[in-house]
Amino acid sequence: MSAKDFLQKLSEASGVTGYEHAVRELVIEAFRPYADEITVTTMGSVIALKRGARDPKDKTPAPKVLIEGHMDEIGLMVTEIDHGFLRFTQVGGFDVRVLLAQEVIVHGRKELRGIIGSRPPHVLTDQEREQVIPMSDLFIDVGLPDERARELVQVGDLITIARKMTALKNNLVTGKAFDDRSAVVTVAEALRQLSTMKHTWDVYAVANVQEEDGAWFGGAFTSTYQVNPDVAVALDVSHADQPNTTEINAVPINEGMGIAMGPNVHPRVHQKLAEVAKANEIPFQVTAYAGPTGTDAWAIQIVREGIPTGLIDIPLRYMHTSVETLSITDLERIGRLLAAFCASLDDSFLKELKGETNGAEEEIRQPQKATRKPAKKRR
Ligand SMILES: [Zn+2]
Repeated sequence: MSAKDFLQKLSEASGVTGYEHAVRELVIEAFRPYADEITVTTMGSVIALKRGARDPKDKTPAPKVLIEGHMDEIGLMVTEIDHGFLRFTQVGGFDVRVLLAQEVIVHGRKELRGIIGSRPPHVLTDQEREQVIPMSDLFIDVGLPDERARELVQVGDLITIARKMTALKNNLVTGKAFDDRSAVVTVAEALRQLSTMKHTWDVYAVANVQEEDGAWFGGAFTSTYQVNPDVAVALDVSHADQPNTTEINAVPINEGMGIAMGPNVHPRVHQKLAEVAKANEIPFQVTAYAGPTGTDAWAIQIVREGIPTGLIDIPLRYMHTSVETLSITDLERIGRLLAAFCASLDDSFLKELKGETNGAEEEIRQPQKATRKPAKKRR
C-alpha cells in the first residue's frame, strides 16, 4: 500500500485517545507483512518486531531500536443531552475557533451523523459576533428528538470529525488526524524498506495509544518499558511554514523534516540521524527545543534508567483542525531516513551510547546551527 493510501485509511478511521481499536486493526494489517512478530500491549499499543540478521556465531542478544508514532487522535465527548441536542467537551486540544459547522460522527449505540451548530449570526449582539464562540455554547445536532437521542446516545460517548482526506497540488494532502497517524505511515514505510535491506539490530515498529491526553503519554511509557530499547526515535508533527507564521521551528513543507535538538533528545542520536540524512541526500533542518517537546519522546527518554532518544518533526500546517495539511513526499523521505538509520546501527554505535568509547566526548557537540529561537511548548 502506498504511503498516501495508508494515510487516507488511517486518517478517515476513528480512534480518539483511549479508544483506538479501529485504527489498531489497520496498523496491524499494514505492519504484518514485514514483521516477524506482532504484539499488542495491555494499554493497546501495537509493537511489530523485525529481527536483525546477526552473525550466527554471535550469541549476544541483538540490540534494539524502537521507532514510533502515536495512533490516537483528538476528539469530543458527550457531556449532556439537552432537548435532543448534544453538549460536549473535548479529549485533547481542538482549535475551538474552527469547530463550528463541522460535520461529526457520534459513536453512540450506533454511529450517527451530526453537525456542530450554534445560534445564527442574525441574533447575536455585535460583541458576540466578534468573539470565538466558546465550546459551552456549541452543540451537536443529529436530527433526533430528545427521547430517541437518549436511547441512542449517552454521556461519555465519543465524537469524531467526519472528514475525507483530499489531495491538493504538489503531493500535498489535507484531512484530520494526520497528527500523528502520518508518523505511523512513516514507521510502516521504514518497515517496508527494511525488508530489502540488511540490518543487524532488532527493529521495533510501534504505534502508540494515548498521546493526545497531553499529560501522561500512557502508550509511549508502557510500550517502551515493554521493549526496553537501546535507542529510540519518536516521530511527531510540528508546525510548518505558512503565511503570517511566527512559530518557532517552523519547517517548510516539501523540504524534508526537522531533526530535533535539545535536552529531550540524546545528542548522539540527533547527530546520527543528521549524518544518515546527509549521507542519503535527505533534506532536513535542525529544530531546537529548550525543554520538554510535548511528544512521546518526552516519555520515552525517561523510561527505566533512561533511553537514548531522537525526535523527528513532520512539517504540518493547521495542527489540531480538520484540515491538517502535509506533504506525502516528506513522509516518504522520513520513511527512507528511518530505514537507513535502523540499517546503519552497529556495535560501535551501541558502545558509544553506553559510554564505552573515548571518541564520544568529541562527537557530542552542538550540531549545525539551530533555527530561530528555542521552543517553549507545542502540540
Ligand atoms: Zn497532537
